[in-house]
Amino acid sequence: MPIHKKNSISWYTSESLEDAGIKHGFFMRHGGCSPAPWASLNLATSVGDSRENVIENRNRIADALEIARDSYYDVWQVHSARVVQAERPRRLDEDHLQADAIVTDQKGVSILMLFADCVPMLFYDPVRRVVAGAHGGWQGTFKGVASETVAAMQSKFNSKPEDILAVIGPSICAQHYEVGPEVVAAAEAHFKDSDEVVRRENKRTYVDLQLANQLFLERAGLLQIEQTGICTMAENQDWFSHRSENGAAGRFGAVITLGRDG
Ligand SMILES: [Zn+2]
Repeated sequence: MPIHKKNSISWYTSESLEDAGIKHGFFMRHGGCSPAPWASLNLATSVGDSRENVIENRNRIADALEIARDSYYDVWQVHSARVVQAERPRRLDEDHLQADAIVTDQKGVSILMLFADCVPMLFYDPVRRVVAGAHGGWQGTFKGVASETVAAMQSKFNSKPEDILAVIGPSICAQHYEVGPEVVAAAEAHFKDSDEVVRRENKRTYVDLQLANQLFLERAGLLQIEQTGICTMAENQDWFSHRSENGAAGRFGAVITLGRDG
């Protein structure tokens, strides 16, 4: 996972997406303008930070990645498995659609999704020239948001799963994600003990959301899946973590785009 730095902004990229020439990144929390508890590159207005700060932070990311400041398409993430297709950027005065995955074949659209422990996923089909992003908390993960994203790429753009590159980004790891019976039940509806998505230890239970999403993608037929292996809770100094910060965290961004128009 190469790390990049420009101005004060730092981000990780995937080797496979970088080799494919696709602009994308998982943006660390540094270099933004938001005060604590959202310090500093917070991209969500839903957590108490000001709209002005969030817009400035989005602009800083756009400038660092060299994408247009008005190219973003984002959604109101609701822990669903709903996928929407972006035909053009979302204007700042336009309402968000409720969804947890975005697909597009449009140059000039930069998919932006927000995270703080939930699992970010970025996708690229180099044959059909389609990109996608998905957000998998435990609910979205076990509702199948990963496979729904692949299904949307297939139905809307005729993508073949074996062509699609996928990257699973910084998120809470299995060692840190202790869960209750509701989450275990959701996991066990899809996975057997031998899948190792659920782990029991000293009367505690843990769920591996990074692995669960990888397995959903493998079941959907993907052959090229990269894991960043970064835990947001262990590396809370670099990434927002809902659990580490007792629910008062900012949200970091994952961005992917086919590039500029023309
Ligand atoms: Zn961890």
